Amino acid sequence: MKDYSVYFKKPSLKEARRRSREPSNINYDGLYVPDDMHGIGKGKKYYIRTYGCQGNQADGETISGILELLGYEKSDNFENSHIILLNTCAIRENAHNKVFGEVGALKKLKANNPEIVIGVCGCMAQEEGVVEKLLRTYPQVDLIFGTHNINRIPILLREALFSKEKVVEVLSIAGEVIENLPVARESKLKAWVNIMFGCDKFCTYCIVPFTRGKERSRLKEDIISEVEGLVKDGYQEVTLLGQNVNAYGQDLDTGYDFANLLEEVAKTGIPRIRFVTSHPWNFSDEMIRVIAEYDNIMPYIHLPIQSGDDDILAKMSRRYTVEEYKGLYYKLRNRVKNCSITTDIIVGFPGESEAQFENTLKLVKELDFDSAYTFIYSPREGTPASKMRDDVTHDDKKVRLQKLIKEVSASALKINKEYVGRTLKVLVEGTSKKNEKILSGYSEENKLVNFKGRKDDIGKIIKVKITGAKTWTLQGEQVDG
Ligand code: SF4
Repeated sequence: MKDYSVYFKKPSLKEARRRSREPSNINYDGLYVPDDMHGIGKGKKYYIRTYGCQGNQADGETISGILELLGYEKSDNFENSHIILLNTCAIRENAHNKVFGEVGALKKLKANNPEIVIGVCGCMAQEEGVVEKLLRTYPQVDLIFGTHNINRIPILLREALFSKEKVVEVLSIAGEVIENLPVARESKLKAWVNIMFGCDKFCTYCIVPFTRGKERSRLKEDIISEVEGLVKDGYQEVTLLGQNVNAYGQDLDTGYDFANLLEEVAKTGIPRIRFVTSHPWNFSDEMIRVIAEYDNIMPYIHLPIQSGDDDILAKMSRRYTVEEYKGLYYKLRNRVKNCSITTDIIVGFPGESEAQFENTLKLVKELDFDSAYTFIYSPREGTPASKMRDDVTHDDKKVRLQKLIKEVSASALKINKEYVGRTLKVLVEGTSKKNEKILSGYSEENKLVNFKGRKDDIGKIIKVKITGAKTWTLQGEQVDG
């Protein structure tokens, strides 16, 4: 018997830390739609703003799928919407500030339209301090739910709509795998496919293990049938998602791992496969063999290193050394043809000396990443690193970030210049943001290419001869054949 009750539940870091050895539950019947919620959204609109990673983007599409199942129509602005949801990211301070700014800006709208429902969900909703602040300072927020109970939106919304009470239901649990939820995908060409959820790596600066629960894999049958459905629907590209995809299957104890899954997805015939995010710690030779062997697995690897100094890596609890990372990096460059590698780097981690930062710069100069996402360290409530003295001044952090960006940009431009004269396969996504006459799309190496071409080819994979290179993009012209 389904439980339609709503529980007033705030997040608890203590509970979120817990991990059990029990296998995670796979729930095929997790969607709760009370009878009186069918069609509740007819003639009404919803607005959802999603921040952060691909995993949160995929959650955003599931939330949209559920609201559309209830009859709501998507809106691209909140002024004319009846439901407004901020699907948040907790990874850095500036993400926090943006959300509080946006919630603050909704106060007037709520005062003028008391009927609308304003909700906050996603990773920030899993943080104790955030929920306290929302309840204390933002009376315009009616609904707060987390990353583990998206499937319960219909009954949480029902409570918010009918009881006019504030609804706070955030589950700080290890989590289950919930299948069969509706998805309203943003794109008709490229699709996110979750393969696993959560993370057990507990890097000392990271909030994800507390906001997303324990590492839990979907069953391969469910993933393969989802991809086969996407092939039937004409999708050109899937991105397999997980906080740490390389750990896929380890919790299922069947010996079936990410290399096996990747090979089976490749055999579905989907034209393009990507996957994020990888952790150097679980990257096997078998995975490299599969990536190199299948043409429809894209030669693009996002491999966060975070720091180029072993002592800092140890304090981050990344569990690999710079030498081990370099070993993997060169294996990928040597064994995967035309392999493009990007990374994540944090500057100003507690205790990071000038010399340790120089080690990071030296590594970036040596490895020449195709690009890198670079961040200033910001303490996350409840993480082990937040208890370390954040002793690098903000000015020093900014100086280090600028130096790093300069180095990373130089490598990116150098590598992009080597593409001039090559012909690349590009999935045409549409016209370029800057110029309607120019088409735009990503190459197999995940390079953004702007090129002169035929608009009829939008949605197709075509060949483009590269004629120019900038730091973050390539220019070219369409070639036949
Ligand atoms: S691997 Fe580390 S950085 Fe990545 S999600 Fe897990 S804890 Fe966070």
